[in-house]
Amino acid sequence: MAMSASIEFPKGVKRAAAAARAMLRTALDLALPTLCPSCRAPVEGRGLCPACWSKLSFITRPYCERLGIPFAYDPGPGILSMEAIADPPAYQRARAAVRFDEISRALVHALKYGDRLDLAPMMGRWITHAGREILAEADALVPVPLHWRRQWARRFNQSAILAKAVAEGSGVPVAAGALKRVKATAQQVGLSRSERAVNVQGAFKVPDEGKALVGGRRLVLVDDVLTSGATVEGCARALYRAGAANVDVLIFARVADAVRTSI
Ligand SMILES: [Zn+2]
Repeated sequence: MAMSASIEFPKGVKRAAAAARAMLRTALDLALPTLCPSCRAPVEGRGLCPACWSKLSFITRPYCERLGIPFAYDPGPGILSMEAIADPPAYQRARAAVRFDEISRALVHALKYGDRLDLAPMMGRWITHAGREILAEADALVPVPLHWRRQWARRFNQSAILAKAVAEGSGVPVAAGALKRVKATAQQVGLSRSERAVNVQGAFKVPDEGKALVGGRRLVLVDDVLTSGATVEGCARALYRAGAANVDVLIFARVADAVRTSI
């Protein structure tokens, strides 16, 4: 019989080690100034430095009412983009707080890989503001799930962290466990739009225990970044298949090249 190579510590030792790590982190937080997640300049309080803050690109109207992508000029209220009409998404409406650029990418990376969970309330506030109309009609938030293997490696799901922050600001609860990623998908980076769609096909599923959270309800998917939209498309389809009444999408940052109007 093969012996396991890893050493099993008793539970108490593990807990003490975790407590020591947490104490060390608190001590470091007190000793070091907070750094701007974008340019790493020391900042007062938390969040971006004033220079990076001024470069952030918030998404405001006029935008396509369906996709939430800004128009280059104002076509008047309620107009949809050519893109939304020619190739309508599975979800009803999408809104994003900011454009995906150098600054917003730095924020997302800091949250995702840099353990800057302290940025989540600020990012959540911006998402809540961008999605206030959607949130006013919503029953529950559904974070885009990670495959359990990736979540285990990263220790947390950044979409769930953002959804929690949006829930705190809006009062709309998170429907934890409503959606599962049943297929570990390849990284979307470098894939074309159609390759991305194939990549996420069958990747998401409403588990039996999640069906009561989905059926007949108005749901809002929450994710950190939207590029081609294939991931939220896959999620929206799975939620509609399980009987969701409506699916909207809230994103922190989206790739947003200006779209053409339908007129
Ligand atoms: Zn900065």
